Amino acid sequence: MLKKKFLSLFSLVVVLFVFAGCGETNALESASKQGSDYKITATLDYTNKTLSASQNVCYLNNSPNELNEVKFHLYPNAFREDASVYRAVSTTQSSRAYPNGFSEGNIAISKVKVGQNEVDFAITGEDENILSVPLNDVLRSGHSTEISIDFSLTIPNCHHRFGYGEDTLNLGNWYPIACVFESGQFVTDGYSPNGDPFYSDISNYDVTLTYPAILKIASTGEIVENNTSSSQTTTKMTAKAVRDFAIVLSEKFEVISATTGNTTVNYFYYDDENATQHLQTSIDAVNTFNEMIGEYPYKQLNVVKTNFLQGGMEYPNLVYISDDVDVNEEYNNVIIHEIAHQWWYGLVGNNECEYAWIDEGLAEYSTALFYDKNPEYNKTSDQVLSSALSSYLLFCDVYREVYDSFDTSMNRNIHKFNTETEYVYLTYVKGVLMFDSISEMIGQNKMEKVLQNFYENNVFTNVMPSDLIKSFESVAHKKLASYIMSWLDGSVVFEELRG
Ligand SMILES: [Zn+2]
Repeated sequence: MLKKKFLSLFSLVVVLFVFAGCGETNALESASKQGSDYKITATLDYTNKTLSASQNVCYLNNSPNELNEVKFHLYPNAFREDASVYRAVSTTQSSRAYPNGFSEGNIAISKVKVGQNEVDFAITGEDENILSVPLNDVLRSGHSTEISIDFSLTIPNCHHRFGYGEDTLNLGNWYPIACVFESGQFVTDGYSPNGDPFYSDISNYDVTLTYPAILKIASTGEIVENNTSSSQTTTKMTAKAVRDFAIVLSEKFEVISATTGNTTVNYFYYDDENATQHLQTSIDAVNTFNEMIGEYPYKQLNVVKTNFLQGGMEYPNLVYISDDVDVNEEYNNVIIHEIAHQWWYGLVGNNECEYAWIDEGLAEYSTALFYDKNPEYNKTSDQVLSSALSSYLLFCDVYREVYDSFDTSMNRNIHKFNTETEYVYLTYVKGVLMFDSISEMIGQNKMEKVLQNFYENNVFTNVMPSDLIKSFESVAHKKLASYIMSWLDGSVVFEELRG
C-alpha cells in the first residue's frame, strides 16, 4: 500500500509538473500561432559592410479585411544620402552619429515572389520607405500567403540602430518587416530621428547568418546551431512570438551570463570594468519586473554594449546600451529602462509613432518603481519623480519664453514634434508624471495591480490608448478617461503641479 501511495503521489507530481510546464509556454505558443513566420538567410560581407539576404515570409492576414497587397517597411532607406522626409539622423545628431563623416546606408530589393510567381513590386511611401507587394489572389482574413524577398543592404558607418562603428556592427530594423494593418489600412509611418518610430506585429523568426568567424554574435531569440568552417561561421537563430529581430556583431565581445527563473541573461561587452555589476543590474531588472508586472516568457535576454548615439535601444530579447554612457549610475539606469521595454513595447506593443507615451511613459515609470524595490541602488522613485517634475516645469518655462503658444499635447504623431527635446519631455517625462499622478490618485499598491492587469490582458498584442484606459479603470474602479485625456491633449494645468 505504501508503494502504491508513493506511486500515485509520484504520478500526481509528474502531472502537476507537466501541466505547470505547459502553462508557462501556452501563451507564447498560442501567440506564435497567430503570427506570420519570417525565414531569413543572409550573408555578411564584413570587408565591404554589405549583406545579401533572401527572406521568406509566411504572411498571415490577421485583420478582418481582404487584402490585395502587403506592405513592408524599408527602414534602412532612412540612411540614404538623399533621404528627405524620413531621415534616421538629424543635422544636430550628425556629428555624433557619423564618426567619419556621412556614410550611406540603404536596402535594395532585387526580386519578390508571391508563391512561385515573381511579381512587380513597387518601392513606395513618401521617401522610398515602403515595399508594396501585389498579391496574385485576394488574401482572405485568417489566411496566409508566401512572400519571398531578395534584398541587399549597404551598412553605414554610423553609430545607430543600423550601422557599424569601431567596435560593433548593429543590425536593427534591417530587413523588410510587414506594416501593421489596422482600421482598414497599412500603418506606414516612416523613420524619425526623434524617437523609436516602430510598430509591428508579433511574429516568428528563423534567421541564418553567415559571417567571419572572428565575430561574436548577439541576437533576438536563441541560437540553435553554430557551424564554423575555416574563416566563416554560420549561426541559426530562432525566436517565437517576438515583434522584431535584431543582431549585434563584434570582434571584441566578451560575454558573462547568469540565470534567473527560466531566463538566461547574457551581458555582451568590451572595455567594461564594471561588467559584473552591469550583469547584476540586468538580473535585478528582470527579477523586479517579473514580480511587479508579469513573467518574462522567453529563455534569453541579451544586454549588449554597443556603438550607439543614444542611451539605449530596445528590441525583443536584446537591448543596446550605448558605450557613450560612461557614468555608472546612468549606465545602470539605461539598462533598467531598456529592460522595462521588454514588457512595454516587446510584450505589450503600441504604435510608437502615435502613442510613444505608452511604452516610454510606462518604461520610465517602471524604472522609477524599480528603485524603491532595490534600495541598494541608493535612489527612490520620489527622487526620480521630483526631478522629472522640476525638469518638466523648467522645460515648460523655457518653451513659453521661446514660443508664443506652446503645445503640451502628448497624443501626437512622432513627426509632429518640433524638436527632439520637445518629444522627450512630452513622451518620457510627461508620461512618467502622468502615470505617477494616477498612482497618487489610486494608491501605489493598486497601481501595481493595474500594471499587472494591463500586461496580462494585452501580452503579445498591440494596444490603443482606449485599451489602457479601459484596463486601468477596471482595476482602479474609478473613471480615469477624462483625467488621462486632459494629460494627453495638453489641457492639464501644470501650475497646479508646482505645489
Ligand atoms: Zn525607451
